[in-house]
Amino acid sequence: MSETAERVAATCPSCSPDVETVHEVLSEGSGQVTVRCTECSHVHKTTIEREEEVERDVVVSQDGESFTATVEAPPEETVAVGEEFVLDTPEAIMVVRITDLQLGDEVRRDEAEVEDVETFWTRAVDNVRVNVTVNPVDGRNDDSRSVQISVPGDYEFTVGETEEFGDEEFEVKSVAVRDDASGYDFNPLGEEGDVAFAKDVKRVYADDETSTAWSAW
Ligand SMILES: [Zn+2]
Repeated sequence: MSETAERVAATCPSCSPDVETVHEVLSEGSGQVTVRCTECSHVHKTTIEREEEVERDVVVSQDGESFTATVEAPPEETVAVGEEFVLDTPEAIMVVRITDLQLGDEVRRDEAEVEDVETFWTRAVDNVRVNVTVNPVDGRNDDSRSVQISVPGDYEFTVGETEEFGDEEFEVKSVAVRDDASGYDFNPLGEEGDVAFAKDVKRVYADDETSTAWSAW
Protein backbone atom coordinates (compact mmCIF):
# COMPACT_ATOMS: atom_id res chain seq x y z
CA MET A 1 0.00 0.00 0.00
CA SER A 2 2.90 2.36 0.56
CA GLU A 3 4.71 4.17 -2.19
CA THR A 4 8.14 3.01 -1.12
CA ALA A 5 9.57 -0.30 -2.35
CA GLU A 6 8.10 -3.32 -0.63
CA ARG A 7 10.27 -4.80 2.09
CA VAL A 8 10.31 -8.39 3.22
CA ALA A 9 12.20 -10.45 5.72
CA ALA A 10 14.47 -13.10 4.17
CA THR A 11 17.73 -14.83 4.86
CA CYS A 12 20.71 -13.49 2.91
CA PRO A 13 23.12 -16.04 1.42
CA SER A 14 25.89 -13.46 1.51
CA CYS A 15 25.80 -11.94 4.99
CA SER A 16 23.15 -13.73 7.02
CA PRO A 17 22.25 -17.27 5.92
CA ASP A 18 20.57 -18.14 9.23
CA VAL A 19 18.90 -14.99 10.45
CA GLU A 20 16.46 -13.00 8.35
CA THR A 21 17.40 -9.49 7.34
CA VAL A 22 15.33 -6.76 5.70
CA HIS A 23 15.23 -7.05 1.92
CA GLU A 24 13.87 -4.72 -0.71
CA VAL A 25 11.73 -6.39 -3.37
CA LEU A 26 13.12 -5.52 -6.81
CA SER A 27 10.88 -7.64 -9.02
CA GLU A 28 8.47 -10.51 -8.81
CA GLY A 29 8.44 -13.57 -11.01
CA SER A 30 6.28 -16.68 -10.85
CA GLY A 31 6.82 -17.99 -7.36
CA GLN A 32 10.15 -16.27 -6.94
CA VAL A 33 11.07 -12.69 -6.17
CA THR A 34 14.30 -10.82 -6.72
CA VAL A 35 15.37 -9.04 -3.56
CA ARG A 36 18.22 -6.86 -2.35
CA CYS A 37 19.60 -7.24 1.15
CA THR A 38 19.54 -3.87 2.95
CA GLU A 39 22.48 -4.99 5.11
CA CYS A 40 25.01 -5.87 2.41
CA SER A 41 23.21 -4.94 -0.87
CA HIS A 42 23.50 -8.51 -2.15
CA VAL A 43 20.88 -9.20 -4.83
CA HIS A 44 19.41 -12.70 -4.97
CA LYS A 45 16.25 -14.63 -5.63
CA THR A 46 14.08 -16.02 -2.90
CA THR A 47 10.58 -17.25 -2.28
CA ILE A 48 8.40 -15.34 0.13
CA GLU A 49 5.07 -16.40 1.45
CA ARG A 50 2.37 -14.10 0.28
CA GLU A 51 -0.10 -13.03 2.87
CA GLU A 52 -3.72 -13.18 1.98
CA GLU A 53 -5.03 -9.70 1.42
CA VAL A 54 -8.21 -8.41 2.98
CA GLU A 55 -10.67 -5.97 1.50
CA ARG A 56 -11.61 -2.83 3.38
CA ASP A 57 -13.93 0.09 2.73
CA VAL A 58 -12.40 3.44 1.87
CA VAL A 59 -14.29 6.72 2.06
CA VAL A 60 -12.62 9.32 -0.13
CA SER A 61 -13.40 12.99 0.19
CA GLN A 62 -12.60 15.16 -2.79
CA ASP A 63 -13.67 18.71 -3.56
CA GLY A 64 -16.19 18.72 -0.72
CA GLU A 65 -17.87 15.51 -1.85
CA SER A 66 -17.20 11.94 -0.87
CA PHE A 67 -17.51 8.49 -2.36
CA THR A 68 -16.82 4.95 -1.22
CA ALA A 69 -14.33 2.49 -2.68
CA THR A 70 -12.42 -0.54 -1.47
CA VAL A 71 -8.76 -1.35 -0.98
CA GLU A 72 -6.96 -4.68 -0.60
CA ALA A 73 -4.08 -4.87 1.84
CA PRO A 74 -2.18 -7.39 3.96
CA PRO A 75 -4.04 -7.84 7.28
CA GLU A 76 -0.85 -7.49 9.35
CA GLU A 77 0.23 -4.21 7.80
CA THR A 78 0.23 -1.24 10.13
CA VAL A 79 -1.40 1.88 8.77
CA ALA A 80 -1.55 5.37 10.22
CA VAL A 81 -3.21 8.72 9.79
CA GLY A 82 -1.13 10.88 7.44
CA GLU A 83 0.03 7.97 5.27
CA GLU A 84 -0.78 7.99 1.58
CA PHE A 85 -1.59 5.14 -0.75
CA VAL A 86 -2.66 4.56 -4.32
CA LEU A 87 -6.35 3.78 -4.60
CA ASP A 88 -7.49 1.95 -7.69
CA THR A 89 -11.19 2.59 -8.34
CA PRO A 90 -13.23 1.70 -11.42
CA GLU A 91 -13.38 5.41 -12.26
CA ALA A 92 -9.84 6.52 -11.55
CA ILE A 93 -6.52 5.75 -9.93
CA MET A 94 -5.78 8.32 -7.28
CA VAL A 95 -3.50 9.04 -4.37
CA VAL A 96 -5.31 9.38 -1.06
CA ARG A 97 -4.13 10.29 2.43
CA ILE A 98 -5.54 8.61 5.53
CA THR A 99 -7.33 11.14 7.74
CA ASP A 100 -8.95 8.70 10.19
CA LEU A 101 -9.12 4.96 10.87
CA GLN A 102 -12.48 3.59 11.97
CA LEU A 103 -12.29 0.30 13.87
CA GLY A 104 -15.89 0.10 15.00
CA ASP A 105 -19.00 2.21 15.40
CA GLU A 106 -17.44 4.43 18.05
CA VAL A 107 -13.80 3.50 17.74
CA ARG A 108 -11.33 5.63 15.84
CA ARG A 109 -7.57 5.42 15.91
CA ASP A 110 -4.53 7.19 14.50
CA GLU A 111 -2.76 3.89 13.91
CA ALA A 112 -3.94 0.29 13.54
CA GLU A 113 -3.39 -2.99 11.76
CA VAL A 114 -5.33 -3.38 8.54
CA GLU A 115 -7.29 -6.39 9.83
CA ASP A 116 -8.71 -4.27 12.67
CA VAL A 117 -9.74 -1.43 10.42
CA GLU A 118 -13.36 -1.28 9.31
CA THR A 119 -13.20 1.87 7.21
CA PHE A 120 -10.36 4.03 5.94
CA TRP A 121 -11.36 7.71 5.94
CA THR A 122 -9.23 9.50 3.38
CA ARG A 123 -8.99 12.52 1.14
CA ALA A 124 -7.68 12.74 -2.39
CA VAL A 125 -4.32 14.51 -2.52
CA ASP A 126 -3.21 14.33 -6.14
CA ASN A 127 -5.49 17.23 -7.04
CA VAL A 128 -6.80 19.52 -4.34
CA ARG A 129 -8.77 22.69 -3.83
CA VAL A 130 -7.05 25.23 -1.62
CA ASN A 131 -8.86 27.89 0.38
CA VAL A 132 -7.26 31.32 0.19
CA THR A 133 -8.23 34.31 2.28
CA VAL A 134 -7.32 37.42 0.31
CA ASN A 135 -6.98 40.65 2.25
CA PRO A 136 -7.25 44.02 0.49
CA VAL A 137 -4.00 46.00 0.35
CA ASP A 138 -5.36 48.92 2.35
CA GLY A 139 -5.74 46.67 5.36
CA ARG A 140 -9.51 46.70 5.65
CA ASN A 141 -9.72 43.11 6.90
CA ASP A 142 -13.48 43.35 6.99
CA ASP A 143 -13.39 43.25 3.24
CA SER A 144 -11.28 40.14 2.95
CA ARG A 145 -12.66 37.49 0.67
CA SER A 146 -12.27 33.77 0.38
CA VAL A 147 -11.39 32.11 -2.92
CA GLN A 148 -10.76 28.50 -3.85
CA ILE A 149 -8.12 27.44 -6.33
CA SER A 150 -7.61 23.99 -7.84
CA VAL A 151 -4.01 22.81 -8.08
CA PRO A 152 -2.00 19.55 -8.10
CA GLY A 153 -1.36 18.23 -4.58
CA ASP A 154 2.37 18.82 -4.86
CA TYR A 155 1.98 22.46 -5.91
CA GLU A 156 4.12 24.63 -3.65
CA PHE A 157 2.99 27.78 -1.87
CA THR A 158 5.87 29.95 -0.64
CA VAL A 159 5.47 32.71 1.92
CA GLY A 160 6.44 36.03 0.34
CA GLU A 161 5.83 34.93 -3.24
CA THR A 162 3.16 36.23 -5.57
CA GLU A 163 0.69 33.75 -7.05
CA GLU A 164 -1.48 34.24 -10.08
CA PHE A 165 -4.57 32.17 -10.80
CA GLY A 166 -6.83 33.50 -13.52
CA ASP A 167 -7.97 36.91 -12.36
CA GLU A 168 -6.57 36.39 -8.89
CA GLU A 169 -3.18 37.76 -7.96
CA PHE A 170 -2.01 37.71 -4.38
CA GLU A 171 1.09 37.58 -2.20
CA VAL A 172 1.24 34.68 0.27
CA LYS A 173 1.62 36.00 3.83
CA SER A 174 1.08 32.85 5.88
CA VAL A 175 -0.11 29.27 5.50
CA ALA A 176 -2.08 27.16 7.97
CA VAL A 177 -1.34 23.45 7.51
CA ARG A 178 -3.65 20.53 8.16
CA ASP A 179 -3.51 18.18 11.15
CA ASP A 180 -2.74 15.19 8.93
CA ALA A 181 0.33 16.86 7.40
CA SER A 182 3.78 16.17 8.76
CA GLY A 183 7.22 17.67 8.28
CA TYR A 184 6.38 21.26 9.21
CA ASP A 185 8.16 22.95 12.12
CA PHE A 186 5.57 25.65 12.58
CA ASN A 187 1.86 26.08 12.07
CA PRO A 188 0.96 28.49 10.67
CA LEU A 189 4.00 29.06 8.47
CA GLY A 190 4.83 32.75 8.36
CA GLU A 191 8.51 33.19 7.61
CA GLU A 192 9.58 34.49 4.22
CA GLY A 193 10.52 31.45 2.14
CA ASP A 194 8.48 28.90 4.12
CA VAL A 195 7.02 26.35 1.72
CA ALA A 196 3.91 24.18 1.99
CA PHE A 197 2.53 21.63 -0.45
CA ALA A 198 -1.02 22.31 -1.58
CA LYS A 199 -2.22 18.94 -0.25
CA ASP A 200 -1.06 19.93 3.24
CA VAL A 201 -2.69 23.34 3.23
CA LYS A 202 -5.69 24.16 5.38
CA ARG A 203 -5.78 27.80 4.33
CA VAL A 204 -3.53 30.35 2.65
CA TYR A 205 -3.63 33.93 3.92
CA ALA A 206 -2.63 36.46 1.31
CA ASP A 207 -2.58 40.14 0.37
CA ASP A 208 -4.49 41.20 -2.70
CA GLU A 209 -2.28 42.16 -5.61
CA THR A 210 -4.80 42.28 -8.40
CA SER A 211 -4.22 45.35 -10.53
CA THR A 212 -7.85 46.40 -10.51
CA ALA A 213 -8.65 48.58 -7.52
CA TRP A 214 -10.18 46.73 -4.61
CA SER A 215 -12.74 49.55 -4.32
CA ALA A 216 -14.36 48.20 -7.48
CA TRP A 217 -15.91 45.57 -5.24
ZN1 LIG B 1 23.08 -9.55 3.04
